[in-house]
Amino acid sequence: MMNNIAEQLALAYHQLAKNCEQAHVPQERVKLIAVSKTKPNSAIEAAFAANQRQFGENYPQELATKADALQHLTEIEWHFIGPLQSNKTRLVAENASWVHSIDRLKIAQRLSEQRPVKQGDLKILLQINISQEEAKSGIAPDHMLELAAAVSALPNLTLRGLMAIPAPGDNTRLTADFAAMQQLSLELQKHYPDATELSMGMSDDWPLALRYGATMIRLGTAIFGARNYD
Ligand SMILES: *Cc1c(COP(=O)(O)O)cnc(C)c1O
Repeated sequence: MMNNIAEQLALAYHQLAKNCEQAHVPQERVKLIAVSKTKPNSAIEAAFAANQRQFGENYPQELATKADALQHLTEIEWHFIGPLQSNKTRLVAENASWVHSIDRLKIAQRLSEQRPVKQGDLKILLQINISQEEAKSGIAPDHMLELAAAVSALPNLTLRGLMAIPAPGDNTRLTADFAAMQQLSLELQKHYPDATELSMGMSDDWPLALRYGATMIRLGTAIFGARNYD
């Protein structure tokens, strides 16, 4: 498995370089986040050995357990990308460097209170429900600036941008969603010049996301293989 992960990573970075060139995007501008949810520590160690430093996790307890077990990998940056309930915020505040999934002020307030000051500010992305799906995480685009104002006023957090998980659909639909996110990101940056990050694109659709300004792509299956939830 070790070699396989290193090979998959090398392939992903190769494709990233090619797609960045085609899209006229400097590759340094794009972070590849290896989404390691459900995968064992050995998989993360294999990716780390192949120079991967950014990892994404979806479940607070899994994040905390892995961060604790892998403390020796001091340069790891953990990105929390899953839904977050109030009673689990401390696990994220103490272990993550980035949180991509903020869609409620209350969660941001708890993270702000619980963030250990010595770890520096927790970097925050607001999750947008860009496909306007019912019962999906994320705020409506109309509420972006209101939540941005409230979050950016909190201590121990820094607002750094936006995240979205568009609904599955054909290319036309996906393109419209990514393009809408790019516009929202530009709008946000008019008010918050440091909120330059745009987290969008997964294993199946990241090249398209890149063409619409993605600065963080979140790849699970493409790096670690299919997940088994049993
Ligand atoms: C699981 C997950 C990913 C990775 O998905 P793949 O299709 O395996 O690349 C990316 N982003 C989020 C928010 C996820 O939950």
